[in-house]
Formats: sequence, structure tokens, C-alpha cells
Amino acid sequence: MSERVLRVNCPTCKDIVEWGEQSPWRPFCCERCKLIDFGEWANERHSIPGAPVDPEQLANLTNRSDEHD
Ligand SMILES: [Zn+2]
Repeated sequence: MSERVLRVNCPTCKDIVEWGEQSPWRPFCCERCKLIDFGEWANERHSIPGAPVDPEQLANLTNRSDEHD
């Protein structure tokens, strides 16, 4: 257990990225991939299954289901 290097896949090109100081653009493999991904966000064409849920949205959903009584 001496190696504790976390490896992730670049969201853009799926290349393996080591999570550390040698990867300043993590989780992207390079600046280009980061910019590409940011461009996707700008175009609102980005959707990640299991993306973090906005706490406010979650509260709204909870309130709605409570109205069923
Ligand atoms: Zn990449």
C-alpha cells in the first residue's frame, strides 16, 4: 500500500490521468480537454449521469412529495 496515486479518466478523451501535482488540469489530461469540456457546458449539451444534485432542487423535490400526505 505504498502507492497511493489515484487515477481517473479524463472526462473528455477518457485518457488516464494521475491525480496529483503533475496533473494541473485534473481530472482532465490536458488544458485542451478541459477547455473542450467547458465549451460543452457553455452550450448546455453536457449531462453527466449521477452528477451532484443541487441541494435546493433536492429540497423542492422533497417538498413536492410531502404534499401527497
Ligand atoms: Zn483528455
